[in-house]
Amino acid sequence: MSETWNKRTKLVHGGTRRSQYNEVSEAIFLTQGFVYDTAEAAEARFIETGPDEFIYARYGNPTVDMFEKRIAMLEGAEDAFATASGMAAVNGALSSLLNAGDHIVSAKALFGSCLYILENILAKNGVEVTLVDGTDLEAWRVAVRPETKAVFFESMSNPTLEVIDVAAVAEIAHAVGATVVVDNVFSTPVFSNAIAQGADIVIYSATKHIDGQGRALGGVILGTKELIRGTVEPYMKHTGGSISPFNAWVMLKGLETITLRVGAQSESALQIATALSGHAALERTIYPGLKDHAQNDLIQTQLDGNGGTVLSLDIKGGKDAAFKFLNALTIPVISNNLGDAKSIATHPATTTHQRLSDEMKEDLGITPGLVRFSVGLEDAEDLIADLKQALDVSQA
Ligand SMILES: *Cc1c(COP(=O)(O)O)cnc(C)c1O
Repeated sequence: MSETWNKRTKLVHGGTRRSQYNEVSEAIFLTQGFVYDTAEAAEARFIETGPDEFIYARYGNPTVDMFEKRIAMLEGAEDAFATASGMAAVNGALSSLLNAGDHIVSAKALFGSCLYILENILAKNGVEVTLVDGTDLEAWRVAVRPETKAVFFESMSNPTLEVIDVAAVAEIAHAVGATVVVDNVFSTPVFSNAIAQGADIVIYSATKHIDGQGRALGGVILGTKELIRGTVEPYMKHTGGSISPFNAWVMLKGLETITLRVGAQSESALQIATALSGHAALERTIYPGLKDHAQNDLIQTQLDGNGGTVLSLDIKGGKDAAFKFLNALTIPVISNNLGDAKSIATHPATTTHQRLSDEMKEDLGITPGLVRFSVGLEDAEDLIADLKQALDVSQA
């Protein structure tokens, strides 16, 4: 029955399991272990684990299981494995899939830590890495080859909000038998259906919109039962990247309200982007929901929700002006999370993307004046007024 539920119903009831007390709100099973009635039962549990049986929280836990079932239902994935952070999910998916001698093609516009996994960890383990401009389909076609085991990209890139055509890249990758791994954080599990568009594995940093209130780290890897239980789970459970039951509970409760939160945030994002577009202090207002975004056509088919909850502002006057702008904001906070109830402004060039070379920054459009703005749940009019006064200060 739950299969036919619509999203909002799945997000409130999906995956719920109740203890003998029949609690209404999902319980936090803050336990790392489980008691066996007899030595024989312990032996049997280690041979084969049934759906309601657990061994150790690194392998699985009832609260974690509820979160995995609920996010899998939302994504339309057969299965899910919850991880300690988004990075544990990226590393778990890629390191479990790839062996020495394999080849991976990845978009180069990536979160700094994702780039570290490709260029340091995978490369060190004998995986050959090719980076391409993810928006250029011809570049993907040229880069894939028979030994390409996986392709990897962020469906919407951080912080310049380039959109990658999931279905088109999946077709190119599948033609050589490669597994398609999509980091879907910026698209959110509400606005995007990457699995339906051809992704084999979808990754979220649950730290972002799934928590949505900036409290806990978490992540999740979604895909077919075979990929999740056959490939990902053995790697994750033996290397220790599992989520804590408490954090899984925060994420589980976050899912109940995620459609309402990201819906309101993306409404405000469009309103703010529209209000600021063409402002004299700005070189560019980047928001995928604006008609002048280079991939606005693709957004219409690939993504619901205007264009997501994040916009980027390229402020005239470089770093000095960007810093004046940030310091003049009175409502948004200066930090580096996103998807939070609180609006957050980030200067990527000096924080999240500081590690990149100047050439790479320029190549990716991470200019000294660029500010990433994650739209929160505050009143949009208040935010617009605050952003405008700070833009004025930036040029003074
Ligand atoms: C934040 C983020 C990650 C990493 O997630 P953590 O939960 O911080 O480990 C990975 N990819 C993208 C696109 C992100 O925004």
